[in-house]
Amino acid sequence: LPYDRVWNFSAGPSVLPQSVLEEVQRDLLNYKGHGMSVLEMSHRSKVYGSIISDAEATLRRVLKVPDNYSILFLQGGGTGEFAAAYLNLMASKSVREKQQKLGRPLACDYIVTGGWSKSGLKEVERLGANVNVVLDGVKSATTGETVYNSLPPVSEWNLGKPEETAYVYYCENETVHGVETPANFVVDAVDPSVPVICDMSSNMLSRPVDVSRFGAIVAGAQKNMGPAGVSIAIVRKDLLDRDESDPEVTRNIPSVLDWCYFDGAASMPNTPPTFSIYVCGLVFKWVEGQGIETMEKIRNERAKMVYDVIDAHPEFFHGLVDKKYRSAMNLVFTLPNAELESKFIAEAADCNMIQLKGHRSLGGIRVSLYNAMPIEGANAFVAFMKQFYENNH
Ligand code: PLP
Repeated sequence: LPYDRVWNFSAGPSVLPQSVLEEVQRDLLNYKGHGMSVLEMSHRSKVYGSIISDAEATLRRVLKVPDNYSILFLQGGGTGEFAAAYLNLMASKSVREKQQKLGRPLACDYIVTGGWSKSGLKEVERLGANVNVVLDGVKSATTGETVYNSLPPVSEWNLGKPEETAYVYYCENETVHGVETPANFVVDAVDPSVPVICDMSSNMLSRPVDVSRFGAIVAGAQKNMGPAGVSIAIVRKDLLDRDESDPEVTRNIPSVLDWCYFDGAASMPNTPPTFSIYVCGLVFKWVEGQGIETMEKIRNERAKMVYDVIDAHPEFFHGLVDKKYRSAMNLVFTLPNAELESKFIAEAADCNMIQLKGHRSLGGIRVSLYNAMPIEGANAFVAFMKQFYENNH
């Protein structure tokens, strides 16, 4: 590979497009003749002002984000947004009015499909939310234990009544468990009067999304969008409406998690993660150059190649997720025993393919195929899988 690079199948932070890295390298010491690196630039400078506003505008075009949505660049990672989503929603005027009408706390509905939505749920429980668990994985047919490899049918979901629910939360792609909820599956199931909040940290920008159906979309950048250090929230503006005269409203929201504070200052009420946002802007341009539909086509192609090998040898490669819900971003499977799995990982590393070990909570193999992974990378991996099967089955 160019620059002696490796095929990096990390779940995150993960591979970036080579052309983006080359551009960053070219401009690292002297950004477009301004005599300094973006790393050294004041966020209050005119030049940086255009970098961040260009990044925002490009993302808006790429995802066709409607005008009644704000795009915010935030810090605190995907995890920061677990708390931010809850705190900001509960402060919003419409939610508070609904709660007053009900006369008791509204429920926050959580759809738990894997480790990350579970973490989102635990975070708001810590903050004292009145949680309603809509579903929590599925029961294993063999052991009866809760497992995260599928979704129960919508008829079995325990969604609250719209007038008793503040919002519905889910994670669209479970990075650890490899469960991806089909586009619009949740918004189709939820009453349109209830805002849906979605964590898209690990599948954002991999396919088109109808933003208008969400209350907010939140994501850490470090998988499909750019370097770690910045997270993004796309928020419907009416949810940022607050009764500022009521001191109760914002008392419990730290400024760094306050979407309104960021919205009112074009994402720069304090020093933003300047370099991460700059690189995200380049990635957004890279996606725009190809089109989001192309991203989706390539993502499906890449994933199909690997799943085809798994399905061709189910006695050797055991896919962990129900076919209807398996992720195109993080593909998880096991081999017949732990020894073979270690051998698989070691031999793959000898072929310059790294970061294939499954998450510590799940074991097995996880191969992450984000936007920046070229088809050639998936090809190389598939050839390796086939050879490994031939040598070891
Ligand atoms: N949500 C999802 C889907 C993730 O994959 C991750 C991290 O991998 C997070 C949230 C948490 O992000 P962070 O590590 O930036 O807090």
